Amino acid sequence: MSARDNDPVRRRDRIPYERYFEVAMVPEAGMSLHSYEYLQRLTGDIFATHQVWDAHAHLGKDIDGHELSSEELLAELDRYHVHGAVIFPFDDPDQGEDFRAPNDRVFTAHEQAPDRLVPFMRLNPNGPWEGEYERSAARGCRGVKLHPRAQQFELGSRLARPLFARAAADRLPVLIHTGFGMNAITDELAGLAAEFDGLELILGHSSFIDMPDALRVLAPYSNVYFETSVVRVYDLFTLLSSVDPGRVLYGSDLPYASSYSALQVLVTIAHFAGLGHERLPDLLGGNLLRLLRGRPTSGGEA
Ligand SMILES: [Zn+2]
Repeated sequence: MSARDNDPVRRRDRIPYERYFEVAMVPEAGMSLHSYEYLQRLTGDIFATHQVWDAHAHLGKDIDGHELSSEELLAELDRYHVHGAVIFPFDDPDQGEDFRAPNDRVFTAHEQAPDRLVPFMRLNPNGPWEGEYERSAARGCRGVKLHPRAQQFELGSRLARPLFARAAADRLPVLIHTGFGMNAITDELAGLAAEFDGLELILGHSSFIDMPDALRVLAPYSNVYFETSVVRVYDLFTLLSSVDPGRVLYGSDLPYASSYSALQVLVTIAHFAGLGHERLPDLLGGNLLRLLRGRPTSGGEA
């Protein structure tokens, strides 16, 4: 056995070709590959027995021109029988110095659908974030969203560290953008995960910009969660083959992707990685709900 064979992240870096042709994956004659019926088939109809939850959706508007209203979001979730979503602001043109206005929009959407839309506050560590943190936490925000590139800060910096300390003390999970536009920040993430007791980090897009090193370094930290939106299939396969599935969270990144494509890719690659249907309820919502309730369960390495 070579050293490479012993490395859990490298061990199964190829999608087994024969799994493409298993009967369970083949649509019936006339069934569209882009239909809810096909999703039901791929999942053993998890939608009938479990709540599916999306860990990553934006609400409001972005300086890049994207927009999503709560009505549009709920209609999209309904279309694919997704029960609810974690929602937070875009890189909003009205963010000011503390994201107060976009956070208000997100919280109003939560109040309109309190059982389905879970609000995270978006913050800017370069500005006076403490007041907005207090205001958002006091009214029931369930986590924090940070985007190091858009808000131009470094994770381990003097400015950002007090924010992580505060979220850790309050047991509010922090979702960090670790996708397009980022440099590798794996070491900084590991530093935070090791330093702050009680900190739960959700890696938006599973750090695909630094695969597979990100998994090698971060898999040992049980307080690091991997959110799957817009992760490419080979990275998703590596993730699902090497990390405890109890730490993988389904996400869509609406409106930048669709619920349908995000669900289909995750479910298909989970199958290729050898995870049975019995793991899908956790991947597609159970893990997120436990994390939000402060009761994460991590069942050791997969
Ligand atoms: Zn996003």
